Formats: sequence, C-alpha cells, structure tokens
Amino acid sequence: MNSNSTNGIASGNGQVKTKMLRCSRCSTPYPLGTRFRPFCSERCQQLDLRLWLTESYGLPYEDLSRPEEIFEE
Ligand SMILES: [Zn+2]
Repeated sequence: MNSNSTNGIASGNGQVKTKMLRCSRCSTPYPLGTRFRPFCSERCQQLDLRLWLTESYGLPYEDLSRPEEIFEE
C-alpha cells in the first residue's frame, strides 16, 4: 500500500523525472529516449544529415565565387 495515496494534494513530486539531453545542433533540451537522438527533433536531424552529406561530397560551394579576394605580393 502506498501511504501517499491518501494525500489528495498533488505536489508534482510524483512525476517521473525525465532525463534531459541537449541537442547537439541547437542545444535545445530534449527528453532522453527520443528517436531523433542525439537531436531534439526531426528538423535538427535532417539539417545535420544534409550538412554531413554536403561535407562528405565535398561540394565547394564556399569557394565558388569570391572574385573580390585578390591577393598580391
Ligand atoms: Zn535541435
């Protein structure tokens, strides 16, 4: 028998503590056990995946157009 069951006051202490992690992309806390781990949401998961794919393909989009950077010695 749970002796606390006779107490009608819900203090909130009876809630199961959810362990929180931080999204490795946006640092938003998210509950442990999500299927998007280590991200907080599908959005972050997709963003990170896209970035990872871009990097793995080595797309040189950063260096495509910088005509103003002219170095002379
Ligand atoms: Zn996130």
